[in-house]
Amino acid sequence: MIIMANMRNTKNPMPEQAPCVRNKNFLEVTTGYTPEMAMDEAQRCLNCKHKPCMQGCPVAVRIPEFIAMVAEGNFEAAYEKITETNALPAVCGRVCPQEKQCESKCVRGIKGEPVAIGRLERFVADHHMAHGEDRITVPQKNGKKVAVVGSGPSGLTAAGDLAKMGYEVTIYEAFHTAGGVLMYGIPEFRLPKAIVQTEIEKLKKYGVKIETNTIIGKTLLVDELLEDIGYDAVYIGSGAGLPSFLGIEGEELNGVYSANEFLTRINLMKGYKFPEYDTPIYCGKKVAVFGGGNVAMDAARSAKRLGAENVYIIYRRGKEELPARAEEVAHAEEEGVEFLLLQNPTKFIGGLDGWLTGVEVVDMQLGEPDASGRRRPQAVEGSEHIIEIDTAVVSIGQTPNPLIKKTTKGLDTNTRGCIIADEQGATSKPFVYAGGDVVTGAATVILAMGAGKTAALAIHDKLQNKEIDHD
Ligand SMILES: Cc1cc2nc3c(=O)[nH]c(=O)nc-3n(C[C@H](O)[C@H](O)[C@H](O)COP(=O)(O)OP(=O)(O)OC[C@H]3O[C@@H](n4cnc5c(N)ncnc54)[C@H](O)[C@@H]3O)c2cc1C
Repeated sequence: MIIMANMRNTKNPMPEQAPCVRNKNFLEVTTGYTPEMAMDEAQRCLNCKHKPCMQGCPVAVRIPEFIAMVAEGNFEAAYEKITETNALPAVCGRVCPQEKQCESKCVRGIKGEPVAIGRLERFVADHHMAHGEDRITVPQKNGKKVAVVGSGPSGLTAAGDLAKMGYEVTIYEAFHTAGGVLMYGIPEFRLPKAIVQTEIEKLKKYGVKIETNTIIGKTLLVDELLEDIGYDAVYIGSGAGLPSFLGIEGEELNGVYSANEFLTRINLMKGYKFPEYDTPIYCGKKVAVFGGGNVAMDAARSAKRLGAENVYIIYRRGKEELPARAEEVAHAEEEGVEFLLLQNPTKFIGGLDGWLTGVEVVDMQLGEPDASGRRRPQAVEGSEHIIEIDTAVVSIGQTPNPLIKKTTKGLDTNTRGCIIADEQGATSKPFVYAGGDVVTGAATVILAMGAGKTAALAIHDKLQNKEIDHD
């Protein structure tokens, strides 16, 4: 069927809950396209011969092909097409920074807005979950087995791809629930947890086993996986879960959290449903979140939903430099989060009872660009002032936990504690591969998935030649 391209210059808008309603609940903010909206948006795709959008996708989703199927109303075929290379489309459709990836390469973006590739991917995945049936062919086992450390997007992708190639794959996960940051970091209102679990259940149908409550480096060592349990290879996708702190006076006061703890209590432990769930979460009335990335936006928007009256994002650079996705910043602003830009905390202030009462901040101005290319913030002398707060959430970055490095012989890391791996994911230790945040430092879901995919192929290549290597 030949469909004429729809030359409208704007994306079909995404339906969403009104800001004054959604900032009081944890339900998903955006509600997704209807079939009519999806077909209409898909018709904006020009089906370019050179498929530039695909160059922006680390897992090589065949974007124009799936979009053409959506345009024809063939949603299940579109789902099959996406899942040829992407095992987590409902997740990627929601949280990928498409504006920096596939959509940044879309030629429709030259004169107007690019095709809403992410929204279409989400639509297809959701439509399949609601109306489709999984067609799973369990692969024949090839007699080799691989252990995967960590069940975030990187570990899940590596595990799924290896299982589909016939490997017996077991994921070892430290937490009681699989999913990594998708479960413990990104809030329910951006990524419903039931959706993550549905995508994980599908991977299990390919034979992937998941052992939760198992900390590699404590319960079992990487060396034991290879030497005693007999895995042929190990893929480490353990993420960057160690929070960085400001290192200023008063950071030990009650009421000061790392974003990691704050969000884990809310998401993984369902703190916002306390006492129905047994993990409490303290959130006061005046909350300051320090940092300007996606994690900071998630913490600030969560605080608002927990009933805080004033929620501030305190960030030492300007709005232009905020590293969070533009959509997340806009959503936070609409929900009433206040941005105190060009300000930096110098000390936390507490009462005699040991609880936080305020923070001293200093005004900043931007100087010359630093190594990251962003203009370096410099304190304005004598501009110190105090902001009254009762809760602080520090969200200035995360690095890999050093446990695996410390307990594994011959595994090299860099000065930031990230495992050193080549482009294929091979580390300094034979038969040990790594990828995702544990290699790059905190990055994105899709880059972690891309690394898992590349390493799965590299492991396959290596293990096919294993006997030869040992000769
Ligand atoms: C709050 C928040 C919001 C974010 N928002 C976005 C977004 O909107 N879009 C986006 O693209 N990216 C976002 N990111 C970043 C993205 O989630 C990460 O880049 C991605 O999850 C990294 O995947 P990973 O598989 O490498 O690691 P993770 O997702 O961190 O998974 C690692 C897993 O390994 C487990 N583990 C760690 N150590 C061990 C061990 N010793 N033994 C066993 N298991 C272990 C951990 O418990 C965890 O489950 C966000 C991150 C955070 C924290």
